[in-house]
Amino acid sequence: MLQVQNLEVVYDDIMLVLRGVSLSVPPGQIVALLGGNGAGKSTLLRALTGLLDVHHGKIARGAVTLDGERVGQLRPAALVRRGVAQVMEGRRIFAELTVEENLRIGGYTNPRQVRTRSQRVYDLFPVLAKRRRDHAGYLSGGEQQMLAMGRALMADPRYLLLDEPSLGLAPRLVEQIRQLIVEINRDGTAVLLVEQNATMALSIASHGYVLETGKVVLDKPAAQLLDDADVREFYLGLT
Ligand code: ATP
Repeated sequence: MLQVQNLEVVYDDIMLVLRGVSLSVPPGQIVALLGGNGAGKSTLLRALTGLLDVHHGKIARGAVTLDGERVGQLRPAALVRRGVAQVMEGRRIFAELTVEENLRIGGYTNPRQVRTRSQRVYDLFPVLAKRRRDHAGYLSGGEQQMLAMGRALMADPRYLLLDEPSLGLAPRLVEQIRQLIVEINRDGTAVLLVEQNATMALSIASHGYVLETGKVVLDKPAAQLLDDADVREFYLGLT
C-alpha cells in the first residue's frame, strides 16, 4: 500500500501548501485525486515521487510510506526501483528521440527486460508500435500521452501515478486514455489518477479524494462522490 499520513509540505521553508493530508492507494486499485488549480495535487505527487526538493519543497510533518516503510526521503530512481512510477503533467517525453528510444530510457532500471516490456507496451498501444522509429516530437498530443504512460510502464511499476492524463485532449482521446488506464489496472498495477476531469476519473476509480487549499475535504468511495448532488455541484462542477 502506498500512503501519505498527516502530510505537511512547505515550499521555501515558509509556504505551507499541504496541511495534514492523508491518502491511501491500495495495491491493484484505481484511486482518484481531484481538486482545482492550486489545490496541491502536484505537490502531493512530488512528495510521493521524491521530487519535492527539486522544487524547494520539503516534508515538514507526517510521512510517505510504501508497505509501511517510510520512503519520503528516497530519490525518484530509488522509488522507481521499488515500484512507484510517475507520468508527469505535460508528458515530458524526449522530442528528439524516437518512440523506441524513449521507451528504452524508461526501462533503464532493468535493461534485460527492455525487449519484453517494450513488446507489452506496443501490445497495449498499437499506435506506438507503428510509429516506433519516428521522433516523439512528431506524435500527436494523445500519442505523446500514450508514450509517456508507456515509458513509465517500462519500469513495470506496482503503482502508477498519473498527473492529468486527459489535459488538453479531445473527448475521443480522453475516452481512449480512460480505457487504457482500466487495461493497465487489469494487469495488476495500482493507479493514482490526478485529474481535473472528475467524471472521467470517478467513472473508473474505486475511491476518490477531493483536495481544497491543501486539505482533503472529501474522502469517499468514487460511486458515492458521483451520486451526491451537493458534491457534484460544489466540488466537481457537474450538474
Ligand atoms: P495545478 O493543477 O494548477 O497544477 P495543483 O493542485 O497541482 O494545481 P500545486 O501545483 O501543488 O497545485 O500548488 C499548490 C500551491 O503551492 C499553489 O498555491 C502553488 O502556487 C504553490 N506552489 C507550487 N509549487 C511551488 C513552488 N515550487 N514554490 C512555491 N510555491 C509553490
